[in-house]
Amino acid sequence: MKAVRYFGLKDVRVVNDLEKPVPSGDEVLIKVGGAGVCHSDLHIIDEGTVPGAQFTLGHENAGWVEEVGTSVKGYKMGDAVLVYGPWGCGHCKPCQQSSENYCDHQSEQAYGGGLGLNGGMADYMLVPSSRLLVPIFDLDPVIAAPLTDAALTPYAAIKRSLEKLMPDEYVVVIGIGGLGHVAIQILNEMTGSAIIACDITPERLAFAKELGASHTVNSKDADAADQIRRITGIKKAKVVLDFVGASSTIELGAKTVALDGDLTIVGLGGGRFQYNMMGLPFGVRLTNPYWGSRTELMEVVGLARQKKIHIEIERFKLDQAVEVYDKLRNGQIKGRAVLIP
Ligand code: NAD
Ligand code: ZN
Ligand code: ZN
Repeated sequence: MKAVRYFGLKDVRVVNDLEKPVPSGDEVLIKVGGAGVCHSDLHIIDEGTVPGAQFTLGHENAGWVEEVGTSVKGYKMGDAVLVYGPWGCGHCKPCQQSSENYCDHQSEQAYGGGLGLNGGMADYMLVPSSRLLVPIFDLDPVIAAPLTDAALTPYAAIKRSLEKLMPDEYVVVIGIGGLGHVAIQILNEMTGSAIIACDITPERLAFAKELGASHTVNSKDADAADQIRRITGIKKAKVVLDFVGASSTIELGAKTVALDGDLTIVGLGGGRFQYNMMGLPFGVRLTNPYWGSRTELMEVVGLARQKKIHIEIERFKLDQAVEVYDKLRNGQIKGRAVLIP
């Protein structure tokens, strides 16, 4: 079968000679419908955040059950499913509570399919356990694949701050790409707060407005923090969601977050933050959430089935993977690219 393989730093190739896996025990073989192309793949490819290994990329996957191992119950061939991405041990307390993204054993194992183990940029994907599948019913797997990350990650980040996101408050969203464009929609659906969107191109800022941001600020502007503070007034933004995670965006967040607010860094841009007592308002919670839980993914499916969130996707063939990564690197993907076997 065909697959997009990571062979090491800056070395990604499409191969045609992989064996179609056969599931045993609780494993499930998925016929891949779509595999989303996440910016985290670029951190792996360009920075080697998963050193040494060779594996099939793609951690944002959806498709149809092709074959099940002998002990799998409740799934049959043709069922449309999402593949939950952060694979934990399945036994520890966070895993039992469905938060495999915070598995006690994360430091001892690969992060999941496409993140050290074989992922979904292939004709078929072997999933180690049926507990990692979430049914999508009438949703199209091609459109649904990015729900597993581009929607789940901002959803879980926003849920942490829900009690602060009241209608008289402001929320800043930095980076209106794959995750950020869904974050704006989730904020509109689940909170009443006014949304201030930041990106570095006029096109992305116009896109944010279309999706329901009330204000936009170009974070390249030297006075971006002042522009945000002019919008919010003295109270500043109760929540800042940073989907870039560069030093400059973390600094922008620290300058614009309110007293007792949340500064939530989701982006893995390698930024640094130098804490000093006067550099961050009192009471701020600085957090770096990772992905979301299995049950939160079910909630995200609920949002999508009710058409409350829409993922802007661009479709490509598996063979175009290298070209698509270049486009993503150059900021040329609006919303999310999805590879379709
Ligand atoms: P993307 O490439 O689709 O979008 C990034 C957006 O940020 C683009 O619109 C780009 O123009 C914008 N941008 C870049 N520099 C900027 C700046 N200085 N100020 C404002 N905007 C800027 O990326 P994505 O797939 O949405 O991923 C975003 C980040 O989140 C990546 O670092 C990715 O690795 C990370 N991520 C983290 C998690 C997690 O669980 N913590 C999960 C998925 C992705
Ligand atoms: Zn991702
Ligand atoms: Zn665990």
